[in-house]
Amino acid sequence: MNTHMYIKGQALLGAGAVFEVINPATLDIVSHVQGASPSQVDRAVAAALEAFQTWKHVTDSRIIDAFQAIAVDILKHKHDIARLICIEQGKPMALALLEVDLSIDFIQAVAALDIPIEHYNEDSGKKITVYNRPLGVVASITPWNWPFMIAVWHLFPAIKAKNCVVNKPSEYTPLSSIKLVEIINQHLPAGVCNLILGGSQVGNQLSAHPDVIKVSFTGSTRTGQQILQNSIDALKSVILELGGNDVAIVLEDVDIDRVAEKIFNVAFLNAGQTCTCIKRLYVHEDIYDAMIEKLTEYLNAQVIGNGLDHATTFGPVQNKMQFMKVNALIAEALASGATLIKSNQPLPKLGYFIAPALLIDVDESMAIVAEEQFGPVLPVLKFNDIDQVINTSNQVKYGLGSSIWTKDLAKAKQLAERMQTGTVWINSHTDLSPMAAFGGWKHSGLGYSFGINGLLQYTHKQALHVSPY
Ligand code: NAD
Repeated sequence: MNTHMYIKGQALLGAGAVFEVINPATLDIVSHVQGASPSQVDRAVAAALEAFQTWKHVTDSRIIDAFQAIAVDILKHKHDIARLICIEQGKPMALALLEVDLSIDFIQAVAALDIPIEHYNEDSGKKITVYNRPLGVVASITPWNWPFMIAVWHLFPAIKAKNCVVNKPSEYTPLSSIKLVEIINQHLPAGVCNLILGGSQVGNQLSAHPDVIKVSFTGSTRTGQQILQNSIDALKSVILELGGNDVAIVLEDVDIDRVAEKIFNVAFLNAGQTCTCIKRLYVHEDIYDAMIEKLTEYLNAQVIGNGLDHATTFGPVQNKMQFMKVNALIAEALASGATLIKSNQPLPKLGYFIAPALLIDVDESMAIVAEEQFGPVLPVLKFNDIDQVINTSNQVKYGLGSSIWTKDLAKAKQLAERMQTGTVWINSHTDLSPMAAFGGWKHSGLGYSFGINGLLQYTHKQALHVSPY
């Protein structure tokens, strides 16, 4: 198993602290990985800075060709990569394969984007051109829930905008990112894309490094806040894609048979460990009981187990800390009067498995509603007043995504305007587009990813004013 880091195009082993990668479905140690030493972090940043002196002049066609070749290579290794994702992250094989497919689509979408140039002419004869110039060295720090895809979301826009990157994947799930950067290095010059391994100390050193001009971070709000603190002295810019507590509001006019399966799938995607999963479900009182009944059918239809087993539809929680956190939230809700409706399917004896479940008899005072659970348990609340539910649902500290489910699209669009979230879906949830800006309001983040808005986050503006002599 490849446990190398990549610095200046060279595969090398870390010289820092050793950590274990554990398969959350079996608790087997998949691999021992050695993280970067402080001097290796410095070397990775220096390699990126050196490569930037040339890469900033690269032609767009060279980048497009390289991205196409990388996409082809990822496709060639799709099953190996999906296997790595399964064993380090725990998701079922079908979902791991989807993660690779979505990553390939994303790379192709980024390859097709053009960085715009603006032109203005003044009466005096002065011509102004506004360029979007590359920044320099970008640090990319990624989480454990969609390890391969989120690394792709960071690396390709940064490199497309002619920056050089140092990625640090989560210490829980480094293996698929190692494979990604190994492939990238076969198609890009040495130093353009580097990878270092390790935990929070390595991430902290990387994000605070004086030669890093931008930090792209996806992970918890708490870590995002630390990264923002680290960026103050050097006035680094950051993209922070942080936690979410997405709400879905289901109006009384929906046909339960039509929407319940979709709602189930996006609330429990990746065992609920997706930043834009539905994490609070408000259902109109007229259809509440029917919705609970239907969602329970889907809970009971899951095959819970090891993602490598092709029958599995539902995996474990990724790590012990998350397992304890979700169980504690459930226990606290039950102690406060909530009722748990959990899947009647058997759970494997080993592994960080939590039976997918609904929590009813819940309210906004409970942490399972007010906080991000990031696990396979969905609080379902009853409402009868849409104005009240919009106001209440906006009162959480997060603002990542939300959705409205109804036949009445005109009404839904009016309601959408009132949601305090960076993305609002009508009759779907979670299905992001590589073209549409994606980012969080409030404690869910700073800056945007995806599409031209996301690409331009990896550039500086430079206005060139040319007056006649
Ligand atoms: P985390 O913040 O614990 O870790 C994320 C990464 O940051 C890891 O690589 C970790 O090693 C590193 N890190 C930890 N401490 C650091 C420090 N002080 N300085 C620099 N780096 C440090 O998050 P996680 O538990 O891996 O991920 C789960 C969280 O990510 C959830 O809250 C989820 O909502 C969020 N998330 C958000 C999005 C989004 O796009 N908004 C996407 C996926 C996940």
